[in-house]
Amino acid sequence: QADARYLVSLIRSIPDFPKPGILFRDFMPVLADPRGLRIMINGLEAALPVPVDSFDLVAGLEARGFLFGPALASRLGKGFIAVRKAGKLPPETVGEEYSLEYGTQRIEIERSAIRPGQRVLVVDDLIATGGTAKAAADLIVACGGKVSGFSFVMELNGLNGVAALGDHPTSSLLTMP
Ligand code: IMP
Repeated sequence: QADARYLVSLIRSIPDFPKPGILFRDFMPVLADPRGLRIMINGLEAALPVPVDSFDLVAGLEARGFLFGPALASRLGKGFIAVRKAGKLPPETVGEEYSLEYGTQRIEIERSAIRPGQRVLVVDDLIATGGTAKAAADLIVACGGKVSGFSFVMELNGLNGVAALGDHPTSSLLTMP
């Protein structure tokens, strides 16, 4: 409880970023703070949505999922794979397009990153509508992998993001308005 309060105290909230009307939740100060970083990584490990032996890989979503995904994966004895925005990875890639509030976004992974049947835990800093995490899950399945669950640092209230992820087990360290 004290730890959760401490994490919340480190999260910076920026009104009207990146667009008017959006309250942007920024967890970078958590990473910069030794105690905050330790609480976050320990917390993600303690709050895994599925048993540690029920997945093989941790997949981080660009860009902030890259900042703690490898640390968590290492802690859990897993490998890490990157889910990237379009055009960053060398061939061959598998991509998935999804809708944003305005327009579409495409994410990709290297085709060889997942061996058939490998089980993947998806991590990101924040879930809002769930569109990004859902697209990542579809991509993992398209590559022959299986989605074990999702771990987020923050979940935004009232957007039903977790519902967009179907039946997959999901955990969030913090729920923010
Ligand atoms: P969703 O697809 O609507 O769930 O949005 C989640 C994605 O957008 C994640 O990759 C987040 O990093 C990013 N995102 C959306 N809102 C915020 C925010 O307030 N702070 C940080 N990242 C955000």
